[in-house]
Amino acid sequence: MSLISYLTTIRFQAGALSDVGNDLRELGIRMPLIVTDAGISRVGLVDRLISVLSAGQHIPVFAGTPTNPTESAVMAALDLYCSHGCDGLIAIGGGSPIDLAKGVALLSTHDGPLEQYAAILGGIPKISAAVAPLIAIPTTAGTGSEVGRAALITLEDGRKLGFISPHLIPKRAICDPDLTLGLPPALTAATGMDAITHCIETFLSPHFNPPAEAIALDGLVRGVGNIERAVAQGADRTARHEMMMAALEGGLTFQKGLGAVHALSHPLGGLKQVSLHHGTLNAVLLPYVLEFNRSHAEAKYATLRQRLGLNDSVDLADYVRSLNLRLGMPATLAEMGVPRDSFALIAKSATEDHSSATNPRPAGEADYRAILEAAYEGIPVKPGA
Ligand SMILES: [Zn+2]
Repeated sequence: MSLISYLTTIRFQAGALSDVGNDLRELGIRMPLIVTDAGISRVGLVDRLISVLSAGQHIPVFAGTPTNPTESAVMAALDLYCSHGCDGLIAIGGGSPIDLAKGVALLSTHDGPLEQYAAILGGIPKISAAVAPLIAIPTTAGTGSEVGRAALITLEDGRKLGFISPHLIPKRAICDPDLTLGLPPALTAATGMDAITHCIETFLSPHFNPPAEAIALDGLVRGVGNIERAVAQGADRTARHEMMMAALEGGLTFQKGLGAVHALSHPLGGLKQVSLHHGTLNAVLLPYVLEFNRSHAEAKYATLRQRLGLNDSVDLADYVRSLNLRLGMPATLAEMGVPRDSFALIAKSATEDHSSATNPRPAGEADYRAILEAAYEGIPVKPGA
């Protein structure tokens, strides 16, 4: 069966932030909790948001979102939500505050513990429409979480699990490309490569969903065509606009499922001993997974080459490697400081990740191990791995 599910309400426009008061009214939210992180708070975006929202009303702010959202941070934000009598949320920031706000929206209306709602533990049907309303305002162009049905949250025991439900899709996404104008080059590159990876992995997913594939291809062309300009010239409004649309389109295609890149980057992002950026991990892993999948997606690789204007002799993995190099991304997991002694655990977790099932080539523990080793050393994935 094909499950094709649209639409989310999205405001996409430079300056869209100033209309967020209308969204609150339309959704009937009287007291929102703002969820963000320290960096976003520091650059004044939360103050700007509050100034367009309130006439003297005190609006609570949770700014303690970690790089990778954790269960304990969800519980801390939930305390603030309850103590202020909140009835909805506004998440402003990258994917982490948006995912964390989804966790709060869930637990404010569903009994704990959080773990029981994890997708791989059979939690999807336990998440009802009672989830509190959430308005998502992305300040990076990458995650797509503003229109996505998943939240990735690290539990107390270190497992980074996906919480997935159509009810977790934010009720509104406010996509204001001007909010990304100040994003530093390294973060622009990492988050942009996340968006590009979403478009590629969802396109390669074997699920039958032609509308989502068309969106993924459009997002890919915009992303690849503008990421270098957005990195080199951060104030270029056209490049920022195109990158935000690429990220949004990547998110709109999540319903097809991702693949082995995300099956690996999710557990890697949950490692406690080192803090690894999701987008950077995806950028580094993507060429190796493209090598691994090549034999199982030849026709789609031809479509990707054609849409990117590449001739038949171009190897997509090499193409992404050169793009990473031009963007200043690390070339290997070793360069990122990924601990090699984690590979057995990561390979096992990858097979259990919800993204693994939609990789075009079935991947088991030994396959994931081979991809990790290759990406660590910067060598080709061993054929037949
Ligand atoms: Zn991602």
